[in-house]
Amino acid sequence: MFNLYRFRLKCSCGNSLLWKYPKQQSYSTKTKNLWKPVIGLEVHAQIISNSKLFSGAKCDFAGLVNDCVSPFDASIPGTLPVLNKRCVEAGVLAALALSCKINPVSSFDRKHYFYADLPSGYQITQQRSPIAQDGFLQFQVHTPGVNKPPYTKISKIKQIQLEQDSGKSLHDENLHMSLVDLNRAGIPLIEVVFEPDLEDAEEAASLVKELIMILDRIRCCSGRMEEGALRVDANVSIHRQDEPLGTRTEIKNIYSVRAVANAINHEIARQIRIKEEGGTVINETRSWDAAGKVTVAMRDKEIKQDYRYMPEPNLPPLRLNMNGNDQSDLVNVVSLREQLPELPEETRQKLMTTYGLSNINVIQIVNENTLLKLFLEISRDPKIDPKKVVNILLNDFLTVLNKHNIPIDNFNVQPDHIGQLIHMREGQIINIVILRNVLEIVVLGDTRTPEEIVQSKNWQMINDPVKIEKLCTDVMNDNPKAVQKHKDGNKRAFNFLTKKISQNSNDLANMAMVANTLTELLKK
Ligand code: ADP
Ligand code: MG
Repeated sequence: MFNLYRFRLKCSCGNSLLWKYPKQQSYSTKTKNLWKPVIGLEVHAQIISNSKLFSGAKCDFAGLVNDCVSPFDASIPGTLPVLNKRCVEAGVLAALALSCKINPVSSFDRKHYFYADLPSGYQITQQRSPIAQDGFLQFQVHTPGVNKPPYTKISKIKQIQLEQDSGKSLHDENLHMSLVDLNRAGIPLIEVVFEPDLEDAEEAASLVKELIMILDRIRCCSGRMEEGALRVDANVSIHRQDEPLGTRTEIKNIYSVRAVANAINHEIARQIRIKEEGGTVINETRSWDAAGKVTVAMRDKEIKQDYRYMPEPNLPPLRLNMNGNDQSDLVNVVSLREQLPELPEETRQKLMTTYGLSNINVIQIVNENTLLKLFLEISRDPKIDPKKVVNILLNDFLTVLNKHNIPIDNFNVQPDHIGQLIHMREGQIINIVILRNVLEIVVLGDTRTPEEIVQSKNWQMINDPVKIEKLCTDVMNDNPKAVQKHKDGNKRAFNFLTKKISQNSNDLANMAMVANTLTELLKK
């Protein structure tokens, strides 16, 4: 009974480092009777801070186990929370960047649940009275490697709240024991709760990517999902057009942008399968098994858990300085607004108007800080065409990194060396093959300039018409059959001959000249 919806396969077809991802399922949602997915995200982002949200312990949880734990983080009786001002500032900056209404007064609650890595038995959070609410995030939806024009999407934000992280339980199978590491306990987080405004998995992945870039620009969160610095919970439901929203499931703690898309796609397919077979989707928490490519049930939420919220008695209400009054020692919203840096959407608009780049190219460039920095640096040279810079970065440069498995933020290329390569190509000093070869040498760590490399290897392009003609006639004489085939109308024969000429010149011939000369010679 799978006839009411269609599966279509999307394949990765980009050759670049950034856009490699596995095949995934998708479905059509265009016709009235088909299932419409609805997705709402909750994102936990770790605030960049030297110390924890309510204690002076370091946030360096990658260190030794239980090494960053103050008595408060371990819930030793008699210890009290002290709110970290830096974290409030980060929360306000995030709220401003996400166009939220900032609450002049917010407060903290205890949310009770019982788990070994939560020694106090409650988490301090702002769920009921958050620092900010009613914002939105505008972003570009673009599927890497898929040839579909990007489009603009907006997701509303219900609220942003400050809260503490919990510790970590380690279940040791050899010791038959569970161990607890409290380094994470009390790490400052902001939680951003989005409204259920998204319609498919790619929109969710694009939203997460944009949020990461924004939080990085305002120095609120590193966004390093692989380190757990940003975790996504995806709420997913399906329903038919004109019917109320379906029951949702929540996929917890997704740790990469691609996993967000994959997990949601699989969860939608799972729910469709259940409904098509006459079953009901139950409200439950699931987790994403990236290796097995399935979402797995963790616990059901049919009975709403009672968290017994109560005001945190040891923290006063959080007041903010909303009018910029210097006298107050509260966090100053006005001065933080002035500190807001340029955000990714603004950068994209600027790149399009200043350099005349296409929408898709600016998305690709802005999505990677490294590419953006290189682009801006190289394009400072007014004699270089910015479109050529984009080309070399998105095609040749990424191909070299990909080929050698070099992470994009871990290479040593000087921007002016790439600039020099573009100049040499434009000045007909080297051809595209040599450009790529030299780029590869430079990326692999050669500190000489491209000019020096080209000189030492004698890689200058052959532009001398006499030499070009000789290369052509030699190959024609050596390959009389191909020449005859060309004369008989075989189109591939011409390509065969040009390839031979290129090889004979050690890839140094000016191939535009070769094409012209060979055409003339073959007419004779
Ligand atoms: P709760 O109070 O139970 O946590 P919320 O209304 O705050 O529920 O929603 C929590 C998250 O679930 C939000 O991110 C929201 O966008 C999402 N959500 C709510 N209803 C749905 C639905 N029917 N389908 C998908 N996501 C949903
Ligand atoms: Mg939730």
